[in-house]
Amino acid sequence: MNSIFANIDIDLLKKYDKPGPRYTSYPTAPLFSQEYTPQLFKEDLIQNNSNSTHPLSLYFHIPFCDTLCYFCGCTTIITPNSEQLKKYIGYLKKEIDAVSKYITPQRKVVQLHWGGGTPSYLQPDQIREVGNFIKGRFNFGQNIEYGVEIDPRGLTFEHMKAFREIGMNRVSIGVQDFNEEVQVASNRIQSEETTMNAYNWARELGIKSINLDLIYGLPKQTKESFEKTLDKAIEISPERFAIFNFAYIPWLKPHQKLLNQSELPTADAKLQILKMTIEKLVTAGYVYIGMDHFVKPTDEMAIAQKNKTLYRNFQGYSTNAQADLFGFGMSSISHFGTVYSQNHKTLEEYYKNIDEGKFPIHIGYRMNEDDVIRKFVILRLMCDLEIDKNQIERKFNIKFDEYFSESLVDLQQFIDEGIVVNSSDKILIQGMGRLVLRTIAMCFDAYIKNMVKEKPIFSRTV
Ligand code: SF4
Repeated sequence: MNSIFANIDIDLLKKYDKPGPRYTSYPTAPLFSQEYTPQLFKEDLIQNNSNSTHPLSLYFHIPFCDTLCYFCGCTTIITPNSEQLKKYIGYLKKEIDAVSKYITPQRKVVQLHWGGGTPSYLQPDQIREVGNFIKGRFNFGQNIEYGVEIDPRGLTFEHMKAFREIGMNRVSIGVQDFNEEVQVASNRIQSEETTMNAYNWARELGIKSINLDLIYGLPKQTKESFEKTLDKAIEISPERFAIFNFAYIPWLKPHQKLLNQSELPTADAKLQILKMTIEKLVTAGYVYIGMDHFVKPTDEMAIAQKNKTLYRNFQGYSTNAQADLFGFGMSSISHFGTVYSQNHKTLEEYYKNIDEGKFPIHIGYRMNEDDVIRKFVILRLMCDLEIDKNQIERKFNIKFDEYFSESLVDLQQFIDEGIVVNSSDKILIQGMGRLVLRTIAMCFDAYIKNMVKEKPIFSRTV
């Protein structure tokens, strides 16, 4: 086993397990505001298209689900009403049309992702309809990374075939936990057969990159029960695992109150599960990328990390460093140039804005110079597990130690702990530092101290 994980120190994990962002963006989403209007978005879109040669990453949000998983942290609408879907597709197409007309066809799509909710809640014909519509509005590059999140429940071979036909070459299958008691307590019943059907259909259709999503920290989970789930999952042998720490945030997701709180594993038990999970997956030959991601050593994500070309965006880790991200659909987020924007989070508002001929932007943020520098530093830390001070100094024309003098004071506790090394030209995460990356990254966040003090916004970091 990789020596870093030979002796996971639970006390240290406990010490640094505190609320903090996942840094899929910097500044983080609570900084986005309504001062950013659809008109500003339009100006930024036009400017970005005239200045940027970056390729495109597209995200499409399908917000519907059939039933509510009580642990859900996504923006979702539970409905058995397929009429809603038809209507949504109509509006999604309008939004795609409105944005794509500002984007020159010279800019190629290198990455595309359908998320939710449940993209596979669309019927096969609707998948083809939307997929072909997207293809007709953008210029697709070669070797595009085309991913779809799949809920095996309700999925048929025809769904998978339709996704494959429109270009899908990566699948993320939601499993969460194989244990039946955990499934009942979380209101997500999914037989092994159902999961295996989704997996086998993807393989049958030639998908070479399959990710399984699991969650630890769910009600009724124990170290032993989750170990059995992991054994089954490892036997399936997907290329990737995303193993999420369940974020219990009922102040943001009130439906989580439906979970029986007394059945949730304690913080101690969760850390034991995390320790076991890392040890088990690393022993099984998976590379721990950081945060929630484990991949086979041959996976492009492991290779990108080695080559220091890994990136982090709203879908987590990514191998497309320079792409501008445009999100479509209710609640989706865009990030291009130095701008972040997020669409309205209710269907009503999303539809209303499109009906009024506006971009359905709810909130957004224009980064300042300091944000750009800090974003770069936090990103490199999260992806490379090190910061090359010389690179930052050259890139931004600053003296690193001077510019980040306050951050370095905050970092000292981790240096004393022996999990961060600060030399004249590098900051290096080592050993257990990889498991408290979020907490270490917070040292470089200019806003975090006030945000954490004001109200609980973030889930715990471990
Ligand atoms: S399927 Fe996914 S998005 Fe839908 S309720 Fe369950 S966890 Fe949430």
